[in-house]
Amino acid sequence: MSTPSATATTTVSTGTGPLGIALVTGASTGIGAVYAERLAQRGYDLILVARNEARLREVAQRIRAATGRQVFAQIADLNNARDRAQIEETLRSNPGITLLVNNAGVAASAPLGAADADAMEQMIDLNVTALTRLTLAAIPGFTARGKGTIINIASVLGITPEILNGVYGASKAYVIAFTQALANELKEKNLRVQAVLPGATATPLWDLIGVPHNTLPTEWVMPVEDMVDAALTGLDAGEVITIPPLHDKALWDAYEGARQAMRDKLSTSAPAPRYLRAS
Ligand code: NAP
Repeated sequence: MSTPSATATTTVSTGTGPLGIALVTGASTGIGAVYAERLAQRGYDLILVARNEARLREVAQRIRAATGRQVFAQIADLNNARDRAQIEETLRSNPGITLLVNNAGVAASAPLGAADADAMEQMIDLNVTALTRLTLAAIPGFTARGKGTIINIASVLGITPEILNGVYGASKAYVIAFTQALANELKEKNLRVQAVLPGATATPLWDLIGVPHNTLPTEWVMPVEDMVDAALTGLDAGEVITIPPLHDKALWDAYEGARQAMRDKLSTSAPAPRYLRAS
């Protein structure tokens, strides 16, 4: 994989509209490209981040032409520490940024017993480390300005890690837990935080893991535009966890309710009786 140095096409301004700038990672295709389009349609200026320069510039140009918003392409490999540091610096230093979409991510389909350890480490580095570092870079400015939104793209595999590759599922479980912790910590500070849990969504990600989405049952796969529109509806509704494919919301409420019910019962001076040896 080539490692481009993070570069901005033009000097990035602090934005031209009242909504400010949305920085979207992984915006050259798939879910990130649709987020970029939808956020520009809502009135955000954009900083788009990805590695593939030609594709990112094409997306930026298309959105600029369609919406008239300012759209900057910042080419960066978020697996590269130097590139990543430049995006962190952008988040720290540009007071116009009001929204961060941590979308860039990779998946895998290999069972754990056959998985390549280096590829798994790279996946954790992108799905977990980059997402964490970018979020931590954004929070101080958002908090100081009393305004900001962080959208973290997780996956339904974060709550069903037995499906597909376990490192991928575990990386997305991290995203969910991290977002819940952030939401709890930032709730008094007028910041919005959301984790989005897509199910199978029609994007190039599936080609990259060797399972094109058109080989899956059609009733499993959501069009990418529908997924993003549903996720933004969840954001507007103030949801911390948004699961576009889950029709029966009571199932999530029961799951989350059980977790909350355990909260005050998870630290005790004595082991539970079932763990006591009969003497
Ligand atoms: P995708 O079509 O493969 O797009 C991934 C995006 O991330 C691309 O823009 C890619 O651009 C960028 N990217 C990959 N590696 C990068 C790196 N090292 N540095 C910077 N950018 C990088 O995938 P997608 O389906 O849209 O996935 C987006 C997010 O949704 C991911 O976090 C994924 O885990 C999650 N998700 C997807 C599905 C699904 O079914 N599609 C389901 C649940 C969750 P470049 O190649 O140009 O860098």
